Amino acid sequence: MPESTLDRVLVVGASLAGLRAAEALRAEGFAGALTIVGDEPCRPYDRPPLSKELLAGAQSAAEVALRGADELDAAWLLGDAATALDTGRRIVTLASGRELPYDGLVIATGSAPRRLPAFDVRLPNVLELRTLDDAQALRSALGAPAAASPASRAAPASAAAPASAAAPARLLIVGAGFVGVEVAATARALGAEVTIVSLDAPLAIAGEAVSQTASAMLAEHGVTTLIGRTVTETIAGDRFEAALLDDGTRIDADVVVVAVGATPCTGWLEGSGLTLDNGVVCDATLAASGVEGVVAAGDVARWPNPTFGGMPMRIEHWTNAVEGGVHAARTLLAPAGEAAGYAAVPSVWSDHFGVRLQTVGLPAQADRIELVEGSLEERRFCAAAYREGRLIGALAYSMPKALVRYRIKLARGAYLAEPEVAA
Ligand SMILES: Cc1cc2nc3c(=O)[nH]c(=O)nc-3n(C[C@H](O)[C@H](O)[C@H](O)COP(=O)(O)OP(=O)(O)OC[C@H]3O[C@@H](n4cnc5c(N)ncnc54)[C@H](O)[C@@H]3O)c2cc1C
Repeated sequence: MPESTLDRVLVVGASLAGLRAAEALRAEGFAGALTIVGDEPCRPYDRPPLSKELLAGAQSAAEVALRGADELDAAWLLGDAATALDTGRRIVTLASGRELPYDGLVIATGSAPRRLPAFDVRLPNVLELRTLDDAQALRSALGAPAAASPASRAAPASAAAPASAAAPARLLIVGAGFVGVEVAATARALGAEVTIVSLDAPLAIAGEAVSQTASAMLAEHGVTTLIGRTVTETIAGDRFEAALLDDGTRIDADVVVVAVGATPCTGWLEGSGLTLDNGVVCDATLAASGVEGVVAAGDVARWPNPTFGGMPMRIEHWTNAVEGGVHAARTLLAPAGEAAGYAAVPSVWSDHFGVRLQTVGLPAQADRIELVEGSLEERRFCAAAYREGRLIGALAYSMPKALVRYRIKLARGAYLAEPEVAA
């Protein structure tokens, strides 16, 4: 790659996509000043264990730290949020008032939990799950000791603790997506009584076959699921006490986790001239539309994905943060007009009740699912997902190898090929 003309690169968002972008900048030969800004007080850590190993107590805060951060030749500005971007003067302003000039900017501010009007997240036992501190607070609310954290802002153990240490904590989870189902599985293993309230069926986002399998596992493990229901009102004083559902059902709980999806963190970019529409709108290369010298990656970026014929996508999964971070860095360094398109195959995994679910592509958009190996009853299967005869994705429970060939097929353009004849 020809030597970059950039002197100063700023990465905003000190997490997975930001770290991988910063590493890629150095790996591609960028030798200028590299600064990473993050609003959290600590260096990057991995979020998937927050609902799994860390919540279960199988991993400590130190063990979920992302590798590579300490070795990186970069300046870290942590605990200071970016509040504004001036694309004309090429300056990012921080909450502290500090102004940071840049030649190249990587936006990697991720996403934050969506909120519901019925729940007051300021109450000590109304929780979300996005950060290390959220996970520590939930663990303590479930009656388990908090794992040590290097820079913890976790609530003191008493703040969200269950009413009686002897009785199992009663946990209400609102939302049955990946985070909701994983928290349910981990909390059951910790001995909590768990109820899920959700408009959509469990893991509906991954398609019908997955949803059926997840629903069966939740039932077998004693999780009460109230599907097609929503919370209309909550009863609370200093603490949350109960939720009232749209059918009049009352659910008393010691702790609530609101897990109804996430929204991209773009508030600080309002008025910057960037196009914001369910994320930072980028071109196919991950360059932010309409401005020079700005790229975006990870949960916050929305771009036309060449793998699916330019279908606009914003992906909230780990693999995309890694691959997108690396790609955005390359785009930033590429000479004008020479950046490549970011052709991604969405890939996700989820661990719950001792099994691993994996999906590739967009199985939720399928109009036909074809079981290719295993059986739903055994919770060990691989299925291909088609839309109008085209391979659009695949999913597997406990069959990682079977899934790989579909990832490869999609990466090689299977979705864009002529429709396959139904078997
Ligand atoms: C509990 C949980 C479990 C998950 N499990 C899985 C899983 O099993 N499999 C999977 O594929 N994916 C999983 N994910 C999703 C995966 O972790 C995310 O897709 C990934 O973290 C996205 O990385 P990112 O860097 O784009 O964004 P984030 O990790 O959200 O990081 C963005 C960073 O930017 C910071 N920031 C935001 N605004 C500003 C600002 N204005 N100024 C400075 N900093 C700012 C944020 O605080 C954060 O530190 C899980 C996520 C969660 C929360």
